[in-house]
Order: sequence, then structure tokens, then C-alpha cells
Amino acid sequence: MSRILIIEDEIAIAELEKDYLELSGFEVEIETTGDTGEERAIKEEFDLIILDLMLPNVDGFEICKKIRAVKNIPIIMVSAKKEDIDKIRGLGLGADDYITKPFSPSELVARVKAHLARYERLIGSGVKENEIIEIRGIKIDKTARRVYINNEEKNFTTKEFDLLTFLAENPNHVFTKEELFQRIWDMDSIGDIATVTVHIKKIREKIEFNTSKPQYIETIWGVGYRFKV
Ligand code: CA
Repeated sequence: MSRILIIEDEIAIAELEKDYLELSGFEVEIETTGDTGEERAIKEEFDLIILDLMLPNVDGFEICKKIRAVKNIPIIMVSAKKEDIDKIRGLGLGADDYITKPFSPSELVARVKAHLARYERLIGSGVKENEIIEIRGIKIDKTARRVYINNEEKNFTTKEFDLLTFLAENPNHVFTKEELFQRIWDMDSIGDIATVTVHIKKIREKIEFNTSKPQYIETIWGVGYRFKV
């Protein structure tokens, strides 16, 4: 469940926001002064902050800047004055959204949901596991662009890596040299299908135990190559 902190000194508004957000399934906490709000926003784990601009002790500008210095969570700033919103934007404090009072609570809920969804996608993409292809002792980490043969890392040039990966992703499929050249090299790049032969030779030297008897990339005479599984 997402946890939201509302920093707002007008209790009636804070309670109204809280009610609507709780109805949507959020866990909501309220702080009514700038200093206590700032402290909790930084020390505790919240998924989103709704931050009023005019607050006792420390104002929203300062709080926004301080939270942003240490956290990436979405911050929605709230103000009674349209001019203040323009000012916040101008300052580039790193707030994700701005909303002017009075606003409809359901609009606030919609914005909260949108920002949380966007933030979760962002976080999700950051911790995504690497995309890995593993075939009989060969491990290709597509995300890190690294290749391991029996757990030993081998260095591949960009095109060698692309060619090996393409073949390994399409096992048992025979590709002609022309097809491989078109797939891996830009159409306008200098070179010809002999480039493919040269690269296959280099890849084999790195992955094959015996290059004269390839176990992985087979030559199909008169046709092309295939990655054997
Ligand atoms: Ca206020």
C-alpha cells in the first residue's frame, strides 16, 4: 500500500484530502507545520508528498528543495495563489506537479495515482533483471553486453556481440551472409558480406573449443550460418 504524507496547516483541507485518499486505498499521514513535515518526509518512507506552500516555521519552497536533495519520490505542491505556482515552476525546485486551491479532491486523487504509477514504472525499470541468453555454456548478458564462456568472460566488439546475440536468439535458423550483413550492419556502412565471414571467424575463436569443428555456430555450405542448439 502506498504511503502518502500531507504537509498542510489548514486542518479541514488536510482531513478532506486524507479522507479521499484513504477511500482510494492509500495510507495517509498529516503534518501541520513545516518543520515537522520536513523531518518526517526525509526520515520516513513515504511514496508521495502533498506539500502546501504557506506553512508555519518552514515554507513549502524550502521543504521541497530539501526533500528533492535526498529523495526522488513524487511531490505535489499545493498553493492558494496561481502566482505562487508560477513562482515554484520558475524556481525549478523539482516538484512533480502543482495544484491550486480550491481543487476537487477527486482531481487530487487522480493526480496522486498518475504520479505514483509513473514513479513505480521508473523504479521498476531501475531494478529490472538483466536479459540473459544461456545456451550450453555460453551466457550472453544482453543488458550489460557481456559474454561468458563456461563462466569466463570474453571480450567482444560491438558487431561481434550483435552478431552472436542475433544468432543465439534465433537458434537452428539458417541465415545467409547477406541476411546477417543486413541485420547487423547499417545499410550504408562500408563493407560487404565478407565482413560477416571475418566476424564469424573471430566469434568462433572466442566461443569454440575447436574452431575447425564448431559446436555452436555451424556453417551450412552454400547457404550461411546457424546457431545450433
Ligand atoms: Ca497553508
